[in-house]
Amino acid sequence: MVINFGAGPAKLPEEVLKEVQKDLVHYPGADISVMEMSHRGSHYAAIHEAALQSLKDIIYIPDNYKILLMQGGGTGLFATVCMNLMGRTGTADYIVSGSWSAKAAKEAEKYGKVNLVIPKTSKYTSIPDQYTWNLDPNASYVYYCDNETVDGVEFNFVPDTKGVPLVADMSSNFLSRPIDVSKYGVIFAGAQKNIGTAGITVVIVRDDLIGHAMKITPTILDFEIQAKNNSIYNTPPTFIIYVMGRVFEWIKRCGGITAMESNSLKKSQLIYDVIKSSNGFYKCLLDSNCRSRMNVPFRIGDANEELEKQFLKEAESKGMIQLKGHRSVGGIRASLYNAITIKEAQILAEFMTDFYKRNES
Ligand code: PLP
Repeated sequence: MVINFGAGPAKLPEEVLKEVQKDLVHYPGADISVMEMSHRGSHYAAIHEAALQSLKDIIYIPDNYKILLMQGGGTGLFATVCMNLMGRTGTADYIVSGSWSAKAAKEAEKYGKVNLVIPKTSKYTSIPDQYTWNLDPNASYVYYCDNETVDGVEFNFVPDTKGVPLVADMSSNFLSRPIDVSKYGVIFAGAQKNIGTAGITVVIVRDDLIGHAMKITPTILDFEIQAKNNSIYNTPPTFIIYVMGRVFEWIKRCGGITAMESNSLKKSQLIYDVIKSSNGFYKCLLDSNCRSRMNVPFRIGDANEELEKQFLKEAESKGMIQLKGHRSVGGIRASLYNAITIKEAQILAEFMTDFYKRNES
């Protein structure tokens, strides 16, 4: 038994992998692999449309929004967002609540003026109250990361931007809970955590924010060009879009977005409960109102690296892999994306309990 608790590329549902394996050599009706299909042919067109439709079946996307499938990963979108939106006023607000939004803000400095909404900090463990935020009414958009994968900071509310378009990086919690799309200007999410494999980023963008790209914007990164061409201006990563479509169908079969949310709450609660009941053996430094359901980072004692190493070694010998914290923060991190089952989270929770009982002093 192997349980992959990696932060991404992450575990895929086994059911989906088996379906993909079955279709791999001869896609039904086409007799060639999806990987060999023309992106302009009818077979691929059906796969592309079905993936977009399945996403719309999972979350309600109002008619005044476009779904774009873009390349360059989450990092590519850090720049793409600026090039498409920032030219409108030349300035943007960034809520830096973790290392990914910090990277996005740094990237944005290349394209215009960046206003930091909350004070700079070296450790990300909380989200300051909204009434203290320094929002600029002239900003082209307000940017934030809904779930900080490295630090485990997740928003449990949608920021109130006083009418300025809101841009959200949902790379690591997309489709793990309902989303009110109408509150956003742009939502983007790299696929390799909750919805598929690395190589595609889903972008949901409101119509009025399309058509403002800076002159320097590369053609394939221009929202308007991608929207006009249904994200097939050039060759899209066809196989990866096909896999993502299969994951969307799997989510629907599992009970849709409400089931994903309810599972994510149960799974993360199992781990946080062990941390809480361990008498300080495990420590999670995050404020309780911004603890991620997707990535649970914790330390043993006051960063006891010896014991953390032992924990990781024993976990691995039991098949629980990729639990090491991100290199920038150390410690341990359990990533509990959609494909992780409640049973698997339970196995980790039981191991954590057993480990602290054997090692508490
Ligand atoms: N945003 C978040 C929240 C992430 O977790 C990641 C990667 O883990 C990224 C952006 C960057 O994504 P990519 O590696 O696809 O560029």
